[in-house]
Amino acid sequence: VPVLKTYRTEALVLKNHPLGEADLLVVCYTRESGKVRATARAARKVSSRLVGHLEPLTLVNLSLTRGRTLDQVAQAQVADSFPALRNALPALSRGLYVAELLDGFGSEASPNPELYSLALEVLAGIGRSPESDLPLRYFELRLLETSGLLPELYQCVECRKPLVPGDHRFTPNGGGTLCSQCAPLGAHLRPLSVRTLKVLRLLHRQRLAEIPSLTIDHQLAQELKATLTASVEHWLDQQVRSSAFLDHLRRTTPAEPATESAAHA
Ligand SMILES: [Zn+2]
Repeated sequence: VPVLKTYRTEALVLKNHPLGEADLLVVCYTRESGKVRATARAARKVSSRLVGHLEPLTLVNLSLTRGRTLDQVAQAQVADSFPALRNALPALSRGLYVAELLDGFGSEASPNPELYSLALEVLAGIGRSPESDLPLRYFELRLLETSGLLPELYQCVECRKPLVPGDHRFTPNGGGTLCSQCAPLGAHLRPLSVRTLKVLRLLHRQRLAEIPSLTIDHQLAQELKATLTASVEHWLDQQVRSSAFLDHLRRTTPAEPATESAAHA
């Protein structure tokens, strides 16, 4: 008889899908275990104690039982349901964007406690300023940072000379800012205005709650969004592939924890 191992964790629910007649497949992000996919038996029955506890953007204290392929939710207690996000559509859609990126960048094989804290920090920020996109830009930049993919913002990624403001460009797939002399092979080059660069540096230096209120006009907002989205999408492609690969390794070789070197090969 296999021993049922139960563990407890705080988790942010990212999404759920119906499974079978009354079960739910829940995808969440945890501080200690990274992304976790788990089944919740009979959670869609109106009589279930889990009803309403496993909705996207709910912070829950979970008790999970380890399973051969998927863990099972034994208990769930709501720690925070983020009412500020739930009560307004602009805030809710921004929150769901955060959940979607967490799902994309989060790995089932490697926990990232910083990323977990970042997500909670940003959801709180969205709650404070539901109409602002600044928390999303902050999240994108810090998401890249906590994943070890922060775009360079201070010098040329190629020749390493300090940037001369106004005489620079940006390459999402080449790792950040470039001087106008350098054009590495294969790098996608984008213009980057001095004021957008300044806001990116500010997002990098300050915590979200400490960023002074900025006047961001439409053009600046568009450029910030386009610059960060291009970086995020480039790395998301890579990340989705590598985390799927890591998860595959973990599932097929349960006795072998040494998947790190293979993943970086
Ligand atoms: Zn250069």
